[in-house]
Formats: sequence, structure tokens, C-alpha cells
Amino acid sequence: MGSWVPGAAGSGFDEDHLPYGVFDPGDGPRVGVRIGGYALDLAGATGSARTVRGGAGDRGAGAGVAVDPDVAGLLTAPSLDPLLAAGPGAWSAVRGLATALVTDAGRRSAVEPHLHPAGSVRMLLPFTVADYVDFYASQWHATAVGRMFRPDADPLPPNWKHLPIGYHGRAGSVVVSGTPVIRPAGQSRLPGAEPTFGPTRRLDLEAELAYVVGVGSALGVPVSGAAFARHVFGVALLNDWSARDIQAWEYRPLGPFLGKSFATSLGAWITPLAALAAARVEPPRRTHRLLPHLADGGGLPWGLDLTLTVAVNGTEVSRPPFAAMYWTGPQLLAHLTSNGSPLRTGDLLASGTVSGPAPDEAGSLLELSANGTRPVPLAGGASRTFLADGDVVTIGATAPSTGGGRLRLGEVTGTVRPGPA
Ligand code: CA
Repeated sequence: MGSWVPGAAGSGFDEDHLPYGVFDPGDGPRVGVRIGGYALDLAGATGSARTVRGGAGDRGAGAGVAVDPDVAGLLTAPSLDPLLAAGPGAWSAVRGLATALVTDAGRRSAVEPHLHPAGSVRMLLPFTVADYVDFYASQWHATAVGRMFRPDADPLPPNWKHLPIGYHGRAGSVVVSGTPVIRPAGQSRLPGAEPTFGPTRRLDLEAELAYVVGVGSALGVPVSGAAFARHVFGVALLNDWSARDIQAWEYRPLGPFLGKSFATSLGAWITPLAALAAARVEPPRRTHRLLPHLADGGGLPWGLDLTLTVAVNGTEVSRPPFAAMYWTGPQLLAHLTSNGSPLRTGDLLASGTVSGPAPDEAGSLLELSANGTRPVPLAGGASRTFLADGDVVTIGATAPSTGGGRLRLGEVTGTVRPGPA
């Protein structure tokens, strides 16, 4: 069963993927799915806008699909918030509906007017980000950073193999892919000098994957890793922009703060967990026995065989393998809630920088440039240790798809702009 949408097959956005986003074609936000090179307006294609206005008696307008009024209400919202909160039953119903719209040739004439070329619409931040938490789940990234900054100690802190280390970020500065990123100013200190305040000299990228929480949980009630798919809606790529000089001066003892919180870019298209079924793999071999609440669960594992790509000004500088991540999504969720801290719809759980063991698999310039000592070559004879104003960073990823072939996660991109003079 293929899609009738021209160009969908082989695009990474075929009928087996169908990531969700919110787009504005010029007259207001629409909840949609990406299919091939198009954004499909789900409310328009199903006639749900009329269903909601006309009440339950006016079902089935649009493409001749009977849409439950409750589902219709999820599609006519200006964001994914109601869909995220609605839970797995509704996620499955909407995904089934979207699949039918793009695969049933009999509906083509009714659906086609609601396809918008993806390049012609403005993508919006697809949901209200509640709490943003960033983890540190790659042993290769943590080891490389530990070697650089603590050369005389074990590169991994003693807790690293026992719990997924994380910190709370700043939800209000999470921006959608394409939003310019302004070079932050902050306090830093060069070796042997007094502290100064000014634009960061060491602006970096961090290639990450973010888990998007749909269904919240109650205060005081831990959520087990086994409940992962009942709470988490899907994933998106994330760039955790980092000012290394600000970070290095501020981070002890409470961790990252202003060196991270100026901007975090999120991909505009959220890939539902259902689309990743063929990408699930065992996580790396465990070297330490995990405590029961963090144990790897029975059933299918939650390692994910995603291959990320990091490009600076169009030059691919790295291919980080997500399958090498030590801690899985369910373990991040279980750890986060193990003290009774609740989940909220729109919580964003980022994986931490995705780095593999090879030099060209690192997810940050800090690693790729060996802490600024080895410039990374770009096309046209240019090179970078850290980012310059005007640089464009684009992170992409592919994964095995349920129908064979590969799906392509929605990219996350951003251009560095100078700060205020
Ligand atoms: Ca990070």
C-alpha cells in the first residue's frame, strides 16, 4: 500500500512515517502531517473544521471520512497540545485517519486541495513546551568531555553508569527549526585573567534527540519505564546550542545555566513512536548492573538505530549514531519521575549530545575540534573550531522504516546572528 501523493515514495516522508507539525500557510495555524514534499492540513482534509462548527450532525465532510467529533477537536486546534494530551488511543486513531487520507486513491480529489508545498508554509513551534530537561546519555560524549576537562580523573563521573545524569533547562527559549539564534553575551574567564562580560567566543552546537511527552502523570507517583509508550508521543531532533566559555566558568557546582539557556532549537516535525518500530534495537552492553527502576525492560528494546548528520554551512562534519546511546528513553523517563516529580503534556526530554566512538561521529564542535585546537574543515577552504556569525547548522537523521527503506526525521536548522551591538 503506497501513497498517491506525488514524490512521497523514497522521500523519507512516505505513508509509513507521517510526522506531525503545525504550519501556517498564511491564514493561521493548522495541525498537519508531512507527506513527501507537502504539509497536509488534517482538519481541512477531513472536514473537521466544519464538523466542529456544525456539531455532531455534520460528520464526514471533506474526504468522506467519518471523523469522531472528539478527534475533530484535536485537529482543529492551533497546536498539537490537545492531541499530545489525548493519549495513545487518540494517537492511534489520528494516525490511522492520516494514513487513510494519503493512501486511499479514492480520496485524492478531496484531500489534494489541502496539501501545501512544505517550502511555502511557515512552520510553528508545534506544542507548548512545558519543562525542558537535558540529559547526558552518550558514554562517548561524556568520556570525551571528561578527558578534556578533567584529564587527571576518570573521564566518566562515578554515578554515570548508574543513573542518566541530567539538568533542567529553560523551556521558554526552545524555538522551532529555522529560528535565527542570537550569539549570547555572558561572563567568562580566560586562563590567568579576570572575568569579563561579552559575546561568547566559543559558540557550539549539540546534536540531540528529544522525546516529547504527551500524557502527564501525578505528583508523587513515579512512572515506570514500561509505561514509556503510554506517556511519550514521539521524537524530534534538537540542537542544544552551547556557549562553551560561559559554560566552563559557570557550571561548577550546579551545572549548565546561561551557557545553554539562550536558545534550544527543535525540529518542526514530531515523529510518532509508532513510526520508529523498525528502528528499535538493543542498547549497548551494560557494564554495571542497573537498579530495578532503571533496568532494561522485557519486550522490545528502546535503543533507536538513528543515524544523525551534522552540517555546518552545507558541509557534513559528523554522522553521530544514536544506537550507541547508553541510556534509553524509558530510562530517562523512569529516572526523571523516580522521586515523584510529575510529567506534564509538552515536557521535552533531550538525550544529550549524541556522539559515537569514532572521531567523525561526535555531535559537538567541542569534540570535533578537540576543544578548539584542531579546526574542522568546511567546503571552499573554510574551517571552524567554534561557530561564526552567519553560520548555518543543520542536523538531520534517518532510520529504518516499518515499510522498508528509511524514514527521515524533520531537520533542525538555525543560523547564527550577531548579538546586539
Ligand atoms: Ca546538551
